[in-house]
Amino acid sequence: MHTSALRGSPEMPRPSGVHVRPEMDRMAAYIPGESLETFSTRTGISIEHIIKLNSNESPYGPAPEVMRALGDHSNYNTYPDTDSTALRRALADYTDVDSSYIAVSHGSNELINLLWHIFLSVGDNVICCPPTFSLYTFITTFCGAYVLEVPRTLDYEVDVTAILSALTPETKMIILCSPNNPTGNPICEQDVLALLETGCIVVVDEAYVEFSHSPRGLAHLVPHYRNLVVMRTFSKWAGLAGLRIGYGIFPTWIVSYLRRAQCPFEVNVAGHIAAIATLKHLDYTLDKVQRIIQERTRLFEVLANHAYLEPIPSQGNFILTRVCNEEVKMEHLRSVLESYGILLRYFNHPYLHDYVRFTVGLPDHTDRIAEALERIS
Ligand SMILES: *Cc1c(COP(=O)(O)O)cnc(C)c1O
Repeated sequence: MHTSALRGSPEMPRPSGVHVRPEMDRMAAYIPGESLETFSTRTGISIEHIIKLNSNESPYGPAPEVMRALGDHSNYNTYPDTDSTALRRALADYTDVDSSYIAVSHGSNELINLLWHIFLSVGDNVICCPPTFSLYTFITTFCGAYVLEVPRTLDYEVDVTAILSALTPETKMIILCSPNNPTGNPICEQDVLALLETGCIVVVDEAYVEFSHSPRGLAHLVPHYRNLVVMRTFSKWAGLAGLRIGYGIFPTWIVSYLRRAQCPFEVNVAGHIAAIATLKHLDYTLDKVQRIIQERTRLFEVLANHAYLEPIPSQGNFILTRVCNEEVKMEHLRSVLESYGILLRYFNHPYLHDYVRFTVGLPDHTDRIAEALERIS
């Protein structure tokens, strides 16, 4: 919808006699957080004045050594190493899991896409625990499969008992995001172990694990289970969202299917260089992660200061906040914050229509949020 609107011309009708897969008509396009360019065009605020806190990106760039390594490289004319040997070796050190369990892709979203296509046939289903990352549903539909929604409990926990009774013979996978986007809480290890007993492929998406109280996550369990997958990314903690680099820790039998499913040279040379240099100069980036964690505490206090806001404690680099509708209308909050150039994530999902998600940014960004919120109270 928004792409053809951007180009300004109406969509061309499909030629008669040409068919698309029926699931394509069940599938809406995934709508990511608004870009700087689109927000700037919509509001008239220039890009340098926008505070972009809607996609959980890092406000800190990668380490200076990363930028230098990208600039110094002289072989951009050759294809990358399709086995990602050097990066997988560096990731083995970082995760403390042997490199034979590790696969790399251009963003962890692509690994989800590949994994889903490996396991799902038309009519299968995936268990998903909303509110959570909506991309899982889009990709499931793309495969001709269905999502079985098992909502989280009132305190946003995964409801293991309800999952166990929702399972059907067609259930192939259970996807758990931990810490969960957007609620910010992690899943506990015992719950994952209980779900592994089902024999389904259990996928734990740890895109935000570096910001959590247990930054090691569950990767170390993968070699001990044949049905556990852990997904990771450089997009959030490492400030590399623009270079698209993700990885996962998989049972080795799944790694060999992934290698078959993957196009050659999927991860570009720049992505490899940046990820390897990030891991080589890890202290720089981990220090930025610590700053974001500290700022998360401060942002939480700023939000909790207002009676009309109910922030939820988070172990990610974002805070989901309920807006008490009786006191302040969401549209009002949004228009005031947008007039300050603050771009946040709003939701259409029925579970989330009175919630807004703030990415944790720089201290200056928190100050600006505080200033804007004062205007509302
Ligand atoms: C941001 C995010 C990702 C990251 O995707 P990439 O393709 O690696 O950028 C994955 N999972 C969740 C839940 C996210 O929020």
